[in-house]
Formats: sequence, structure tokens, C-alpha cells
Amino acid sequence: MFNNEKAVVVFSGGQDSTTCLFWAKERFAEVEAVTFNYGQRHKLEIDCAADIARELDVPHTVLDMSLLNQLAPNALTRSDIDITQEEGGLPSTFVDGRNLLFLSFAAVLAKQKGAKHIITGVCETDFSGYPDCRDSFIKSLNVTLNLSMDYPFVIHTPLMWLNKAETWELADELNAFEYVRSKTLTCYNGIMGDGCGECPACKLRKAGLDQYIAKRDGVSHV
Ligand SMILES: [Zn+2]
Repeated sequence: MFNNEKAVVVFSGGQDSTTCLFWAKERFAEVEAVTFNYGQRHKLEIDCAADIARELDVPHTVLDMSLLNQLAPNALTRSDIDITQEEGGLPSTFVDGRNLLFLSFAAVLAKQKGAKHIITGVCETDFSGYPDCRDSFIKSLNVTLNLSMDYPFVIHTPLMWLNKAETWELADELNAFEYVRSKTLTCYNGIMGDGCGECPACKLRKAGLDQYIAKRDGVSHV
């Protein structure tokens, strides 16, 4: 075990943060999860996160962040806005400052709970153009959080430099491949596991899954 300390995982019930939850449970004596409710299209996301936390015996806090929808109506929260991506632009799922806000609130909660470690599944590799998912931003925010609360937070980003296939590989190394594959919700249409297969989140997830399975089973990838 990494150490006897406590960690809080920013947890959505999706593939990435569920992999992070397994990662954290291998390394920290105590792990808690925090989920942000910001009026996701599918309340199922919150239920899915709660079910996983319960099954993994992880204390789970759901924080109301509905003000985010008030500030930035977008395709993740509003069913009347389609999920699209302009060539070279940000996808319509983008919410300005979302990770900044989530990590700041996670830090307030972590300090209250006596946890120094914060784990987030942000990733720069499959970079969709979210500026607050970048490694430089996370490092900057870590310093700011420590100064703002006079507390030695450490933000961990186990997925930062992994592509989707490598994230599946990490789940497999954590003996969580089947669990992550069947119990997580990534699909924008609210279908668990392998999802609808049509939305951008499903396509990204499946491409990584296929790539990893081909590598694992020794099939050459043409
Ligand atoms: Zn889908």
C-alpha cells in the first residue's frame, strides 16, 4: 500500500474516474468519492456513481453544483442542445471552468475530511480542447489550493498521459477490466457499459477498448 493516508476521488461513475477509484483503493488506506450533480442529462449518472461507490465500499458525497448549468447551459445538461464539435473548436459539452470548480470544491471537502490527496481522471492525451484538463493547469491549481487553504494537498492524475487504450490496460492491471466495462456509464445517451455505440463518448471509448483488446490478445492492429 502506498501509504496510510486518505484520498478523495472526483468521481462521475464513468470509465475514467472509476478506474481512478480502483487506482486509489490500491494506494491509500482510506478512499472517499465525491460526485457533482450539475443537472446532467441523465440522472442515471448519479445513480450509477452511487451504486459503484456502494459496491466498492467507498463513502460517497454528492454535491449540488446546479449553478453550473445556470452559468453555462451546454449539451451535457440541456437536452435541447445537441452534442456537436466544430472543426478545430471545443465540443458543445464544454463548460468553462468546470474542472477548476470541481477540484476546488473537492479540495474543500477533502480538507474537511482530513484528506490530503485528491485524485482526478483528467487527461491531456485524448485532449478534447478542455484547457482545465491540462497538466500545467492541474499543477498550477495544486499550488493555488495549497496557498488558499494553507494545506498540503496533492492532486494525482493517474490518467494524464494515457490514451484510452492505456486507460483500459490500467483497469486490467487493477483487476477491474470487466467491472469498468460493464458497470460504468460514459455514453451521452445514458446507456451503461458499452453504451449506444453512436455518440462521441461511445466511439472514443470503443476505439480505445478495441485497440487494447487487440494488443492484449496479440492481434496485430492494422
Ligand atoms: Zn453513447
